[in-house]
Parts: sequence; C-alpha cells; structure tokens
Amino acid sequence: MAKHQFQTEANQILQLMIHSLYSNKEIFLRELISNASDALDKLNMLVLTDEKYKNVKFDPKIDIKRDKDAKILTIADTGIGMNEEDLMNNLGTIAKSGTKAFLENLTGDQKVDSHLIGQFGVGFYAAFMVADKVEVITKKAGEEKAYKWVSSGNGEFEIEETTKEGHGTEIILHLNEGEEEFLEEHRIESIVKKYSNHIPFPIFMDKEKFIPAKTDDDGKEIEPSRTEIENVQINSANALWTISKSELKDEDYISFYETLAHSNEEPLKWMHHKAEGAIEYTTLFYIPSKAPMDIYRVDYQPGVKLYINRVFITDDDKELMPTYLRFLRGVIDSKDLPLNVSREILQSNPVMSKIRNASVKKVLSELAKMMEKEPEKYDTFYKEFGNVLKEGLYSDFANREKILELLKFHTLNSDEMVTIKDFVKNVDDEKKEIYYLANKGSIDMLKHSPLLEKFKARGIDVLLLNEEVDTIIFPMVTEYKEYKFVPAADAKFEESEEEKKAAEELAKEFEGLAKEFKSTLGDAVKEVEVTTELTDSPVALKIDKEDPSYMMAQMMKQMGQ
Ligand code: ADP
Ligand code: MG
Repeated sequence: MAKHQFQTEANQILQLMIHSLYSNKEIFLRELISNASDALDKLNMLVLTDEKYKNVKFDPKIDIKRDKDAKILTIADTGIGMNEEDLMNNLGTIAKSGTKAFLENLTGDQKVDSHLIGQFGVGFYAAFMVADKVEVITKKAGEEKAYKWVSSGNGEFEIEETTKEGHGTEIILHLNEGEEEFLEEHRIESIVKKYSNHIPFPIFMDKEKFIPAKTDDDGKEIEPSRTEIENVQINSANALWTISKSELKDEDYISFYETLAHSNEEPLKWMHHKAEGAIEYTTLFYIPSKAPMDIYRVDYQPGVKLYINRVFITDDDKELMPTYLRFLRGVIDSKDLPLNVSREILQSNPVMSKIRNASVKKVLSELAKMMEKEPEKYDTFYKEFGNVLKEGLYSDFANREKILELLKFHTLNSDEMVTIKDFVKNVDDEKKEIYYLANKGSIDMLKHSPLLEKFKARGIDVLLLNEEVDTIIFPMVTEYKEYKFVPAADAKFEESEEEKKAAEELAKEFEGLAKEFKSTLGDAVKEVEVTTELTDSPVALKIDKEDPSYMMAQMMKQMGQ
C-alpha cells in the first residue's frame, strides 16, 4: 500500500470542506452524482468513436446503496473508471486553474462559499463534508487492474490494488456521527430530485415497498402485510431539451437548470429553440440571475455543453458561443455533426459555425424581446451582464447594430437610461452625429466635464459612457445605421457671424496671456490656446490624440496594464 500526500491546494480545499462549509452539506451527493454522470459521458463517447473500446459494454447506470448499520453510503457508476495514474492525477491534486480562483474568491460566508463549490469543480472533495473516511474502488474500462484509493482527509491518501467486477467507480462514504439523515430513503430521493433529476442516466436505489395484507373473500387475513425491497429508478433521466416546449412546465426548466448549473438559484430566463431544415439542432439557453465570480477571468468556465444526438461531447469549449455571450448556460444538441469531431475540427466545422451564428442571432433577438416586454427583468440582466455584452461591439462586427440596440445609456439631458434607438430620435437630421463622452468615473463627474459645455449651451444631448470597458470599446465603434459616433472633444459646431467675431476679438485680447501661460508651463503643455468652447470653466486640459505617448497609454490600457 502506497501513501501519498495531497497537493497543497487540494488539501486546502479538503480542510475547508471538513471545517468550514457546513451550510449546505447535501450538495456532496449532487457533486458525486455529477462525477458519475461525467464518467458515463466519457465512456459513451469512447465506445461510439474509439476502436479500442469496441468490446466494452456500455450499460449506463448509477447506484446509490445504503448500509444503515455500518453507516455507509455508496455511489457506484458503470462509467469510464480510473487507473492508478488517473487516481493520482485526479484525486489528490487539482488540475484546474479554476480552483485557485475558488480559493481566492472565498468570502467566509458559508452560504456564498458553498455555491462556489459546484461552480469551480472541486466537487469530489465535498464527500468529506459528511464522511470522515472515503474509499474509491475503481476499474478503468478496457483495463485489467482495479484500484482502491482511501483517505481520512488528514492530508494523506493511499492507493492499493484490489479486485472489482466490471469497469466503473464506487465511492464509499463512511459517514460522520450525526449524518445518518443521508441514509434515509426520503432524504436521498429528495436531494436527487432536486439536483440530479435530469442527468441523462438512470439513478437506482433500493426502496422499501409496503405490501398490504392479503385477505380472502370474507375479509379474513391470509397473509400479513409486509415490506419488500425494490430496486427502483429515482430520477427522470431525460434529456430535457429534447422534450417539446409544450410538454414542459416552468418547474421542469428550473430543475433542469439546477442540474446543469450546480446551483439552486433560479435562472432569470430561458430560451428553448428547435431548428428544423437543412441543419437540425436544438438549443436550450439560460441566463443566470447572477453573474458567476469568474466572469471576468481569462480562465472562466464556459457554460454551454455540446451534445451530438444526446451524446455529450464537451463543456469546455470557449468557442461554442462567442465570449461576449459567456453568461449563457445551456445545451446545444445536433444530429448533423460527426460524433468523432475533435475540438480543432469543431471550430472550423461549417455545420457548427452555422449553428453558432444562428444561435447568436436567436439569443440577441430574444434579448431584444425581453428588453421590450420584460423591462424589469431586462434591467437585472443588464446590471449583471451588460458590460460583458458590450464586448461584442468589437468582437462581433456582423451583429454590432443589434448589440448597440441592446445597450442602455446615460445621457447628458436625460435622467433615465435610454436606448440608442431613442437617442437618435433627437439627433440633428443633417449632421447625423452621435456625440459621446467616454471616461471612467461617476455619471455626475462626467456631466461636469468642461468638454460638455458647448453641448449644454446648445441643448445637444451626449452619451455618457462611464465604465472602463466603454473607454476601450467606444473609440472603435464608428457608426450606428446612418449615424456617426463622434467623441465630444472632436465635435465642431457652426459658429454664427457674431460668435466668430467675438472669438477673434477674444483671441486677440488674450494672446499675450496665452503666451505667458505657455512660457510659464514650458514643456508641461504642448500649446496654450484661447477657446470659446468653454462657457463655465476658465480652463480645460485637452489631449493631443496624435501624440505617441497618449496612443501608447491607450494601448497599454487595452491590454489590461
Ligand atoms: P470535476 O468533476 O470538476 O473535474 P471533481 O473534484 O468533482 O472535479 O472530480 C475530480 C476528477 O476526479 C474528475 O475530473 C474525474 O477525472 C475524477 N473522478 C471523480 N469521480 C469520478 C468517477 N465517478 N469516475 C471517474 N472519474 C472520476
Ligand atoms: Mg465534479
């Protein structure tokens, strides 16, 4: 028997599971079932595509076994299984970069933190929330040897050879004192229904069945009542997206979301769409009600799963949907993709790109509908994901107009946020220029910018873009329909004869002063000019956009430095 140490991060997570995350212990079962389901997905795929596995029998199921006397709960699957190397790599170390993010994002609030467990895929260790000893007995499909992994959560684990019939994995939990509830039939069934009802494989459990007494015609008992043990399926195991919309209720969609997102937060919205025609596919997308913690991380976990005719292919492809829609959770399923599609092929596959393009259009149009018909819901969406959506303005040129129409803007003259469609109604018909001021800061601060004085004097409205992403993106947005985007600093307005005259006089009058300023400030400024653009402020600093140091600073900013 060989002893091994847990990797530091793995141990850290383990200790958290044991000592701090008590608020929602039942999720350990969701995580173990989800791993069993993943293992079945992996085997399914290999059996269908890999010659090596052609003799492996795929008989997918998950069994939950209870031993009340020994206080042991076992979750067994007939999935891919693990060999010794897999055990070393998967249980004891943490491969995913998301785990670091998990540790960084811990808040100390148990409720919040236990939501993070599923999100960051640190699921296996959740077993230690309820068990002081965990054994894993496993045999990899197509291989001879079986192995046993054991740990008591004390920083070490052991691996030894063992025997096991058939491939797959058994997770054996020696439950802590006080966790007996997790051996109760009803408790387990309700957790499974809550979180795992829609995983695509059946989950079985032994249940007690009450057999009533038998009586003869006179009502005389000829056989007493008794209980019988029956092995029954306790989840519905349907691929929910394949069921027609009309047969599904809100509760079905919500509970599928819980299975999918490892979350018990209700989704904000779902969009279920079946496309028929040249390419057949089904999509079911959800918008969560809250942005996940990793939404602005480069190593964020994508939320869309690809299935080919109900066979799971991947949930780790950031190209399935564009990154500016990375808040979506859900499923794409098509019969028209080849099963043995590799990731590289997937990206250049014409069927996939058609599905992707059509899905993007569909999502954008659903968002537009929501904006119009469910404005409050839309505001929640916009608050959580508006800044992510904006990224599409530069990454998805083809849909730029649609994305612009989904944004909401603060403006100089309006207290409410407005859409671009509404904004252009008040734009000068001749000039067709959309003026904007993009600057990170509060809206109030932007409203007091000296750059806006010439607009105030003329009553012209200006978009106020005050988020960091605005300052990066909007300089790249040049037009909307027949309208041009013009930065406030570059806006030029016709001066009346009188104004021109006054300006000339002013320039003459202050020529001396301007020179004096320049000689006092020296190289700190490039030029000092007299202006009539300011009405309230005495002076303003103006940036020379052609200046190489300014352009450098902008580039650094874009690169996130
Ligand atoms: P995740 O599921 O997000 O990868 P987990 O901590 O839940 O993270 O599981 C870690 C890894 O352990 C899995 O990726 C998988 O490789 C392996 N594993 C866990 N349970 C099983 C199982 N029942 N069958 C096969 N492999 C498993
Ligand atoms: Mg997992």
